[in-house]
Amino acid sequence: MFIQIKGLQDEKLIRPVQLISNLFFEETTLTDEENDLVMAFTITELKASVVFFAGGNEYTSSWMIDELPEEEKSRRKVIKNAVSHVVLDVLTQYTGITQNWGVLTGIRPTKLMHKQNQANADKHEARKHLKETYMISDDKITLMERIVERQLTMVPDLYDLRREVSVYIGIPFCPTKCAYCTFPAFAIQGKQGRVSSFLSGLHYEMEKIGDWLKENKVKITTVYYGGGTPTSIIAQEMDELYEHMYNVFPDAEKIREITVEAGRPDTITPEKLDVLNKWNIDRISINPQSYTQETLRAIGRHHTVEETIEKFHLARKMGMNNINMDLIIGLPGEGTAEFQHTLDETEKLMPESLTVHTLSFKRASEMTQNRDKYKVAGRNEAEKMMEMAEKWTEKHGYVPYYLYRQKNIVGNLENVGYAVPGQESIYNIMIMEEMQTIIGIGCGAASKFIDPETGKIEQFANPKDPKSYNDRFMEFTDKKIEKLNKLFQSEKITSR
Ligand code: SF4
Repeated sequence: MFIQIKGLQDEKLIRPVQLISNLFFEETTLTDEENDLVMAFTITELKASVVFFAGGNEYTSSWMIDELPEEEKSRRKVIKNAVSHVVLDVLTQYTGITQNWGVLTGIRPTKLMHKQNQANADKHEARKHLKETYMISDDKITLMERIVERQLTMVPDLYDLRREVSVYIGIPFCPTKCAYCTFPAFAIQGKQGRVSSFLSGLHYEMEKIGDWLKENKVKITTVYYGGGTPTSIIAQEMDELYEHMYNVFPDAEKIREITVEAGRPDTITPEKLDVLNKWNIDRISINPQSYTQETLRAIGRHHTVEETIEKFHLARKMGMNNINMDLIIGLPGEGTAEFQHTLDETEKLMPESLTVHTLSFKRASEMTQNRDKYKVAGRNEAEKMMEMAEKWTEKHGYVPYYLYRQKNIVGNLENVGYAVPGQESIYNIMIMEEMQTIIGIGCGAASKFIDPETGKIEQFANPKDPKSYNDRFMEFTDKKIEKLNKLFQSEKITSR
């Protein structure tokens, strides 16, 4: 979709126009060349206006600017917001599509609700602010309220955990690579040499970071093993890894929650479940994504539906009492009938938590690169499936406890984590709400350094492929320690 843009002097305003247009159309290209679709802007100190010419019709919108701040950055923000509103308005008129998230294109909506909470805004004020500033629908605001309330019930000291950290450990191997995947996930078959060198690098990183945490008396709130699939490695390697964690991390037995993703059922064995039990792993994930075999084949998951069910029962039998399952709405070839089947099958298992993702087309995935090959549900059908998930979870006693959005997500929907009350993942809350530093260890692991004082966030990522990781893990460990020193120096902490 090409749209000709007129009257936008400031280059930086092109981006918000693009982001809002992308909510309505797949891949919008904004151009100054002549075109049938034209957006003509007029921006003054008092208001932003646009006329959208399309198919012989004109759609107009204006947004009054109450007060333009002196300071350049705040000034830009106000103008950007006004431009986003008028673009949203004319495109809503033109397409008839209502955007439930309004002009909000960020990925963590609930952070806005926490901000209101921390500023002691009452419920009414917070709703009003979200509605007027971002045009978020009442239903989505209610969803945000419910989530924030659940998070604070589960982690009452959520706003006081900035001087603790959580640790993410990335194991970059999987049995095979799924078509929609952009995670660091390398097929493990025949790569034993590479796995061993990776694990020795990982042990080194854990030890150095553990030493730093001990020296600086910084506690660990949660640990999360992700990847890849952390259960792709053999039982003995898992055993050594968790033993090492208990040896090198400070007060490991007091960590509030340790999760290991066992996403691919084809990696789960009784020996590995024994190891998970031996080291008191609190929570695992076994991910069906779909219960339709054809879909699993189409997305390259190479395991069967029966295997998911069988491994779930095995994990249960062997004592795993907090199991999460991930589902994806909008997988190729799937509509409401297939999704209903997935919900019916889930009902037979009743995991403690259920994460409902909406398929997103990430640039680097095989699925995006061969998009024509994959037929996916349209906006209306995706919305229907999301509603089905909402109703199903409510009926079965699950509550929503975290949510995030992604770019290029089918139907501009969201991903929602549901759990039986009391079984919510604390790590998921920490990573979504960005309330504390997350130290990423291992391949492709992203660290998020959050200044305990200002809340300012700095991202830092380890190398994504095992070869580069094996060559450079020491250097990356040093860099992280340097950043931690800056944020948590002992004088800085004790002087507060
Ligand atoms: S199992 Fe998960 S991490 Fe592994 S390839 Fe599939 S989507 Fe990626």
